[in-house]
Amino acid sequence: MNNNELWQSVLAQMQLYISKANFATWFQNTEIFSRENERMVISVPNAFSKEWLSNKYYKLILKTMHDIDNTIKELEFIINPQSSKNLFVKKVIDLEKINIDQLKFEEFKINKETNLNPRYVFENFVVGSFNELAHAAGLAAAESPGVAYNPLFIYGGVGLGKTHLIQAIGNKITNDFRKKRVKYIPSEKFVSNIISAIRAKNMESFKASLSPIDVLIVDDVQFFAGKNKSQEEFFHIFNSLYEKNKQIILSSDKPPNAIPELEERLRSRFEGGMITDVSLPDYETRLVILKTKLQEKNLKLPEEILEYIASNVKKNIRELEGALNSLVIYYKINNNIPDIEVVKKLLKGFVFSPFSVANYKKIIETVAKFYNLEERSLFDKTRRKEIVKPRQIAMFLLRKELKYSFPAIARKFGGKDHTTVIYAYKKILQEIEENNKLTDELNLIKQRVYSG
Ligand code: ADP
Ligand code: MG
Repeated sequence: MNNNELWQSVLAQMQLYISKANFATWFQNTEIFSRENERMVISVPNAFSKEWLSNKYYKLILKTMHDIDNTIKELEFIINPQSSKNLFVKKVIDLEKINIDQLKFEEFKINKETNLNPRYVFENFVVGSFNELAHAAGLAAAESPGVAYNPLFIYGGVGLGKTHLIQAIGNKITNDFRKKRVKYIPSEKFVSNIISAIRAKNMESFKASLSPIDVLIVDDVQFFAGKNKSQEEFFHIFNSLYEKNKQIILSSDKPPNAIPELEERLRSRFEGGMITDVSLPDYETRLVILKTKLQEKNLKLPEEILEYIASNVKKNIRELEGALNSLVIYYKINNNIPDIEVVKKLLKGFVFSPFSVANYKKIIETVAKFYNLEERSLFDKTRRKEIVKPRQIAMFLLRKELKYSFPAIARKFGGKDHTTVIYAYKKILQEIEENNKLTDELNLIKQRVYSG
């Protein structure tokens, strides 16, 4: 077996372990460069591939090679000097390959039976440390629905891939288990269906319509907050499916314990299985996501531009896609690749401002929004639990993030005695020590304060 054949069989094996999107990104333009005794030298096109392959795939590649030829004991990755030079001359974009209609009408047909969008699949879902747990849990649920994790609860901020992931689970189950009936329902739709059923007095038939379902996927369950009647009906629907070992998958913008005005019994149902989050992708992963999206569109952009987007558009994946799309549209109209100065202008609205720092207004706004409260409720003179905790968190953040003095915070909150503020601050600190959930909650709030 020569080096090329050896590498081809390694690649064939690798495809079994990782998604198409990741495979294409990391293994394109790789080859065996040379062999030095027990060490194989593999050439890769750029520094990112090098870092990623040596951090993430070293063991897997080595094991695969070792299985083929047990005298191979070590790997080394080098950047192919040829290909990094090529990057600069490679200002190509394959016009012929672009189908303008395809760009315009990217929407795939939504399946009427399942409500799933076939665009959301595991194959184009990029995995990194920011979402690997959620991805692994999702895959496990897709492989053995109703057995592995039930319910599976995935939470995280806007545009971080929750809908994509939970729909990918649904699409995989539909594909692999032809007989299983999958249903995807956004919570907003769920609530409005429940309300219409109550009005029309046909709740029983609404429930009956859901009973043959094997996999129920409910998106954005935070929407149920405060909707008591809908929660009650949802609780019964949940139970009757759960008792039959049907898979239930839920997404939310916050963990169950942080959803305000959620009935205790529903909260404990949500918490009864696996809870996992998706957070923000790092620079390398943002770059991979961009490359994956371009590949889907059959487009290429110079590395320099991709690096610019990846290092500047940080808010979430939806924005990353938005930034990319605005370049694609520019390209469509002008028929040439924008140079980096033009790119900077085009992406102004997407760029994460280094001045995006916390301030009083943002903290109050974000805390109120997080707990579905009006901003002014935070200042109400009340001991109601739903208000007290958010108020203490707001005080805590003003102190911790903005270094406000305790008396200054007291003044903001209507001249409260500043010992109340100290009490709030200490209470939150102590709770953080005692329970991880609150830490998660605070991190989510902080993430939103700083990315707003
Ligand atoms: P959320 O439901 O969390 O608000 P979405 O699932 O709607 O976010 O994701 C927003 C956009 O980003 C979608 O177009 C989705 O395809 C894309 N996206 C999110 N996560 C990923 C990922 N890990 N890999 C590839 N694309 C992603
Ligand atoms: Mg969503």
